[in-house]
Amino acid sequence: MTTKLLLTFAICRLIVTVGLTVDPSELLLLGVDGQLSVDPFEVETASLDFGLLTRVEPMAVLHPGSADDIARLVRAAYISSHGFTVSARGHGHSINGQAQTSNGVVIEMSGGSRVSRLGLRKLDKPQVSVKEKHVEVWGGELWIDVLRSTLEHGLAPKSWTDYLYLSVGGTLSNGGISGQAFNHGPQISNVYELDVVTGKGEILTCSEEKNSDLFHAVLGGLGQFGIITRARIALEPAPQRVRWIRVLYSNFSTFTRDQEHLISLHGNPTSRKFDYVEGFVIVDEGLINNWRSSFFSPRNPVKISSIAGNGGVLYCLEITKNYDESTAGTIDQSRSLSFFPPRLEPVNHNVPSQSVQEVEALMKGLNFIPSSVFTTDLPYIDFLDRVHKAELKLRAKGLWEVPHPWLNLFVPKSRMADLDRGVFKGILGNNKTSGPILIYPMNKSKFSCQAIFFMGPPWDQRSSAVTPDEDVFYLVALLRSALDNGEETQSLEYLTNQNHKILRFCDDAGIKVKQYLPHYTTQEEWMDHFGDKWDQFYRRKMEFDPRHLLATGQRIFNPSF
Ligand code: FAD
Repeated sequence: MTTKLLLTFAICRLIVTVGLTVDPSELLLLGVDGQLSVDPFEVETASLDFGLLTRVEPMAVLHPGSADDIARLVRAAYISSHGFTVSARGHGHSINGQAQTSNGVVIEMSGGSRVSRLGLRKLDKPQVSVKEKHVEVWGGELWIDVLRSTLEHGLAPKSWTDYLYLSVGGTLSNGGISGQAFNHGPQISNVYELDVVTGKGEILTCSEEKNSDLFHAVLGGLGQFGIITRARIALEPAPQRVRWIRVLYSNFSTFTRDQEHLISLHGNPTSRKFDYVEGFVIVDEGLINNWRSSFFSPRNPVKISSIAGNGGVLYCLEITKNYDESTAGTIDQSRSLSFFPPRLEPVNHNVPSQSVQEVEALMKGLNFIPSSVFTTDLPYIDFLDRVHKAELKLRAKGLWEVPHPWLNLFVPKSRMADLDRGVFKGILGNNKTSGPILIYPMNKSKFSCQAIFFMGPPWDQRSSAVTPDEDVFYLVALLRSALDNGEETQSLEYLTNQNHKILRFCDDAGIKVKQYLPHYTTQEEWMDHFGDKWDQFYRRKMEFDPRHLLATGQRIFNPSF
């Protein structure tokens, strides 16, 4: 079917369903290079997301051929007398319908392969500047493809998410965090420049220097101010390999003290530090079968009950050291890492002696359970892409496309012990966890006691992202899957109730958490979420998307038509 015909169908559907008074010929004259579709399969796809908790059908789906297509569509929505909504959809990996919209058009930003196969997409693959150490990417590009492109030049972005099948525009609209955030800040702090289609349909380039209010608004802006069509992302020389270590703790305060110590080493460029610091909570024996636990050797199963302390909860610190094989003076790690106990996974790689010494020195200062060190060694890309391997396994078992009532909280450091008592050892009890519970700290500013060099704040307060009031705060991510297997504690209803209990507990205990990837349904809740930032958020919305057309799935503003 020709593009023109499909477009006509789409417009007719829009007119019939929402009574649009947009002149069809006007939309036909948009002359998009891409494809506007009402194909039921495409509409169905755009009506769902990873959470599988909500389903909202758009009127049509646009596969843009260029940023101009997006601008034309948004402009048509902006100027039409009745208007319609427009939501960018990255890879649809939100939990609560954030990329969905009912009375409008979803723009599929990441449908790259399909569109380019049709020869419709005029968008280039990521373009690397080796000299300037940055890469220019389409807003819908997936991070895995960004990585593959930059690795061809021996470079890689600095800050990551744990999972790479997410779009650049999607993670930049939230924050983009992983174990590198303590060192480099979130992904939103590693962007030099953006092209953005505002809610008025203008394409604006923005950066620290140019249209800086828009730049900061869009970063962490939940898609409210514009659609990111291009991003210029900072790069660094890519390490070749990663030494990946996990150690266990039974004492929460020892665990968090060690995590906080490790992230405090970030500020001084000359100090030794790990390249990645994360961790997770183990509240039951189910960890062994958990989707991120393949790391623990089946030959050496961990008997949680034999080492778990008071409350039966264990904490796992996860750290990595990057290295290059080419570094001079490599030595056999089996001798040099002799402090690792027998559970060391067999690793045949030679690790440069400097890295070994650094790892040894850093590990000596930690207070984990001595018999609980698990180590592996792998190429950098395999480490970054680790969750995808788990995805493939879960897909094979039919356990990926299930509801995901995820809850992500930023918790101030000073209240972590209360959270441990009330949530990990309290509300979660010994129930099967149904998914990983991540826990790792980050710092808002780069000042630390050792830091003499100020290198810019990891969490720029001018961005729209919201963090707790304290300088150090933790991500606590309950990444659980609901299963329909007859076990009450794994049902969607049970897990959703537990999430509510956790939020209520924090509220009652006065723990001032901030939701990451937030989900609220009333404007009062959003105002509370943004706190001091609400006035600025509201002002920016009025300026850049005055008709409230964009990203209505976030449920912050109602469209003004
Ligand atoms: P979508 O879900 O499609 O969109 C999210 C929001 O951004 C919507 O409001 C949408 O309208 C808007 N949006 C999308 N594209 C654009 C654009 N180009 N311009 C403007 N607005 C846009 N997050 C982390 O920070 N760290 C992690 O380690 C991490 N791991 C994850 C692992 C899995 C398995 C999953 C499912 C999610 C994970 N996330 C993580 C969360 C993820 O970053 C967010 O869900 C993000 O929104 C997903 O990106 P997406 O491309 O699928 O966006």
